[in-house]
Amino acid sequence: MNRASDNTGERRTIPEIQAKIDTGDAVVLTAAEVSERVRIGKEIRLEDIDVVTTATRGIMSGTYAVLSFKVSEPDSFVKASDVLLNGVPAVVGPCPNERLGILDLIVLGTAHSECDSCYGGGHLFREMVDGKPITVDVTTSEGKHFSVETRLSEIPFARLYATRHAFKNYRAFVNPGKEPINTIFHALPFEGELREMTFCGCGELNPIENDPKLETIGIGTRVLLNGAEGFVTGSGTRSIPDNPNLTGFADLHDMEPEYIGGFVTSAGPEIINTWAVPIPILHKGMLENILKLDREIPLKLVDLAGRIPLCEITYGDVWDDADLNVKYEPERCISCRDCCVMEACPMGAVSKGENGTVRNLELCFNCGLCISRCKGEAFSANLGSVKCTTGGCLRDIKVTLRQSDRARAVRAAEELKEKVLTGRFRINEPVERIRWKE
Ligand code: SF4
Ligand code: SF4
Repeated sequence: MNRASDNTGERRTIPEIQAKIDTGDAVVLTAAEVSERVRIGKEIRLEDIDVVTTATRGIMSGTYAVLSFKVSEPDSFVKASDVLLNGVPAVVGPCPNERLGILDLIVLGTAHSECDSCYGGGHLFREMVDGKPITVDVTTSEGKHFSVETRLSEIPFARLYATRHAFKNYRAFVNPGKEPINTIFHALPFEGELREMTFCGCGELNPIENDPKLETIGIGTRVLLNGAEGFVTGSGTRSIPDNPNLTGFADLHDMEPEYIGGFVTSAGPEIINTWAVPIPILHKGMLENILKLDREIPLKLVDLAGRIPLCEITYGDVWDDADLNVKYEPERCISCRDCCVMEACPMGAVSKGENGTVRNLELCFNCGLCISRCKGEAFSANLGSVKCTTGGCLRDIKVTLRQSDRARAVRAAEELKEKVLTGRFRINEPVERIRWKE
């Protein structure tokens, strides 16, 4: 297979590629389809492909929503001082909306409910996107309290903002210490003595991994954020050229519940988001990264405490032979008195039904934690294990939890491809490239 490594020769522009899509002559492939072809040794040249649709789904803490809506008649109170949405505290403002009966609120995706330790901003946003009613508890500046019920369709302004999303992949974690650690990188206390490993990142599917120089992803690039059309606004917090991430926004009204949600970690609720990003291929040099497979993408295995690098593995180690979907066979469930899966599932996707335990497929994140918890071996998937030399010993460390749902990322990339090909999503030139301060 020929790998392109230069950016000389034919160059194409994004408007030219969009024009080709409009006439039905463009070839659009998902990143998974590209990798499938590379794996079987098929050559992919610049003339064989115009756009690759990429995606990532995982925990992305840097998320907040801005909401503005009416809660009472004008002049019925001066200002709100505290507001809870389904128990999740909001920041009131920045506009005080004095005597208007309207709230302007900022809600963090990582905010935790004051009454339910397993509920946070991510759960709230998913319920809103799903059309469910939410309870708004208001304390006014005069010290009065009142509650109203509302739903997303009654909230005229509801936008989700990313401060640190769509990282160029991420890391794998182990705990070499003796004691378990409560962390956002595990749904249970993280077992010590290198007994288990968790990781984040969708590997070869990842948007920035396919365009690491940010040649086409820039300020103003149109993307799908949780299924809604949104835009990149720049690079996010702690973003560096070697390890960039993105900021962006999209309207909550247009999002799809399957792509957003809450994920309960042993350090409290976190938020899941999904990005799908089209990468128009402008020149041969861009193919080098687009054709890269998981086994060529490094994944740093770090000590959870202090993020000290322990050894370098690749995304091939965690995805190559792994099952993307976790299987549940209800007939194998032995109806334990206390179901360890129900207690552990970070998505609350497992519950007691009339005839035993039930898994909600829509909610399931394919994290795989249930596999090591289930007493009846009713849940199964190959999550793989990683060989790592640390402290002079070669160890085989089992993956027990994935914090990225590659199965749904594949689906997000397919959905974007379909939208691009049918003209329901137009690829555009960024208004400016993303640059870093020296
Ligand atoms: S894979 Fe298992 S533990 Fe993870 S979300 Fe699905 S049911 Fe829950
Ligand atoms: S732990 Fe497994 S076998 Fe036991 S009740 Fe839960 S799902 Fe069924």
